[in-house]
Amino acid sequence: MPSAGQQKSGTLYIVPTPIGNLEDITLRSLRILKEVDLIAAEDTRHTKILLNHFGIHTPLISYYREKEVERSEEILHRLQQGQNIALVSDAGTPCISDPGAIAVKLVHEHGLTVVPLPGASALTTALSASGITATSFLFVGFLPSKKGQRRKLLAALAASEHPIVLYESPHRIESLLSDALETLGERQSFWARELTKTFEDLQHGPLSELLAKSRAGRNRGEFVVIIWPGVQEEVQGQTVEELLLWYRDNSDLSLKDVSRRLAADLGLSRSQIYQQALTLWKEAD
Ligand code: SAM
Repeated sequence: MPSAGQQKSGTLYIVPTPIGNLEDITLRSLRILKEVDLIAAEDTRHTKILLNHFGIHTPLISYYREKEVERSEEILHRLQQGQNIALVSDAGTPCISDPGAIAVKLVHEHGLTVVPLPGASALTTALSASGITATSFLFVGFLPSKKGQRRKLLAALAASEHPIVLYESPHRIESLLSDALETLGERQSFWARELTKTFEDLQHGPLSELLAKSRAGRNRGEFVVIIWPGVQEEVQGQTVEELLLWYRDNSDLSLKDVSRRLAADLGLSRSQIYQQALTLWKEAD
């Protein structure tokens, strides 16, 4: 317990809100939004609609991108005075391609408590429906709006071995897909549009097919786009020895990564393959 005159600091709660369907808010999120002293919202008008729907009357302050630094200091000050504050964005999880991270960083730096609540996010919702079997992915969020910068970043991502996950708005979906096709070549892709809403739309297909679809229809709603890694050159070789030499001459993978991959593909011991690779790669030098 804080001693008399010493004020206990408040807590900053990070509260996800629905990305469409209002039922997708958790019971805990509703309770925290009710109990805190203040809600810092990306757009107070937007959040008011949500709060009215659930009969919550907590006071609001705005916390938007252009005022992040200023508002973060205000949030810190109020926390230091003992207020509990919930941070929300317009939709989904704050700080994920949304404002919030500057406040969170500042609050951590001052040793105060940050409590994140799990909940809706377009990223995880889309991924769960994509059928991606890879255990890793590369989340990029929004690509730059300028064409040159967008293509440059896409080119830098071309060699990624992980599926690339992107956010896109309806008016830029066509240029995103067209730039992706030109920069990365044909690849398997997926879009999740209007997730959790009435016209939810999940589409798989080569980039050229999704591009044609985006050209044909009215692109209502927001998109999450996933682009599969490029098809790697087919590995040549029958025996472990041949495969090891192929990897040495045709890939940038380290000896350790090659051993790990071959061990998994062939169901053999990794250390055994690693030892064989060490000898072989040395002999072939
Ligand atoms: N922080 C949010 C989250 O956790 O999902 C994302 C905010 S970001 C400003 C908005 C982008 O998220 C949209 O442009 C779109 O790419 C994606 N998004 C949000 N809601 C969506 C929905 N219902 N369906 C598909 N994508 C959505």
